Amino acid sequence: MNYNKKSIEDIEVAGKRVLCRCDFNVPTKDGKITSDKRIVAALPTIQYLIDKGAKVILCSHMGKPKGEWKPELSLKVVADRLSELLGKTVIMAADVAGEDAKAKAAALQPGDVMLLENTRYIKGETKNDPELSKDLASMADIFVNDAFGTAHRAHSSTAGVADYLPAVSGYLVQKEVSIMGKALANPERPFVAILGGAKVSDKLNVINNLLEKVDTLIIGGGMAYTFLAAQGYTVGKSLVDSEKLDYCKEMMAKAEVKGVKLLLPVDTAVASSFPSPIDAEIAVQYVDCTAIPADQMGLDIGPKACAEFAGAAKAAKTVVWNGPMGVFENPTLAKGTIAVAQALADSDAVTIVGGGDSAAACEQLGFADQITHISTGGGASLEFLEGLELPGIACLQDK
Ligand code: ADP
Ligand code: MG
Repeated sequence: MNYNKKSIEDIEVAGKRVLCRCDFNVPTKDGKITSDKRIVAALPTIQYLIDKGAKVILCSHMGKPKGEWKPELSLKVVADRLSELLGKTVIMAADVAGEDAKAKAAALQPGDVMLLENTRYIKGETKNDPELSKDLASMADIFVNDAFGTAHRAHSSTAGVADYLPAVSGYLVQKEVSIMGKALANPERPFVAILGGAKVSDKLNVINNLLEKVDTLIIGGGMAYTFLAAQGYTVGKSLVDSEKLDYCKEMMAKAEVKGVKLLLPVDTAVASSFPSPIDAEIAVQYVDCTAIPADQMGLDIGPKACAEFAGAAKAAKTVVWNGPMGVFENPTLAKGTIAVAQALADSDAVTIVGGGDSAAACEQLGFADQITHISTGGGASLEFLEGLELPGIACLQDK
């Protein structure tokens, strides 16, 4: 895939009607936004378009209305918050690409901003229905995709509309594509990938693709025990994906053939059961991964693994991290995840974090500012690392 895509700076937007797909899928409670982070993140692109005198038409989905007009998922709350942040009125359309939206779009003046209703109010959105794509396109002259979190979906507002309009990236998508694209296509070496999280099967293809690229692959978190089991160790009550043992063996063999160093944890924190509730106080012991007692389960990497993983991360020039090293939601079991986050924060390598929970962990633990790039898209960043073509990016014009 070509990562060299045109951005808003590569196209003339002055006086043009610009349809900009944002990620305004913000959390709400009782009709109020509980975090406006995603709206704030979209501001640079929107402000650029305003400053250049574009007529700005914003759109996004929110939640999963599945084609139904659910009032609690109206983007009106986003328009209100965005108006405050921009210090100017954001015109709210009463529909997505219907009569009201079209009339309001036609009346826009340079520098005006309007917001369409929740794109998923229309059934055709998630089916990438050409009728909806055409309706959306009919309101604008240019399409800007600034929503990385939905870039792995071929929907009308994320990709389909680009069949009918010149399409470029906004600043958020540009940043994701240039940093992650460079890491995969032309990384500064040593290139180390750290994978964790709960399920091997979720990350099968990532492991396979990363083995083609990296110098060292580190596997921690719940995934590690399936690999350890595949090596013939008993892992007690730890999470094991018994259908994936052969796959793990294949990946270990592939690493050997490719000369990739594959690191598994040498020790682990174990307890007799999973904490319930997840942040309940828990008594753990640290044991070597070759000697996990039959009645125990591994819930975090141990101190020796922490030191080894952190050392490998610090020696790297490029690090990609996806998936926590343990049940980081519990303070006693967060040590491995903290050690890795700390190593990335201390490193002067290009450090990239993808995956919803790993990104949340970096933020909760206070390391976010010291990471080069925290991807805004969990699923999208995973597909990116898998080497898949993302429809919302593939549809943009090449430079
Ligand atoms: P991401 O969202 O970053 O891609 P995942 O969703 O794959 O990460 O995995 C995150 C989850 O994995 C967390 O909820 C964490 O508690 C869980 N987890 C990590 N290590 C273990 C383990 N050893 N046993 C069970 N669950 C684990
Ligand atoms: Mg997750």
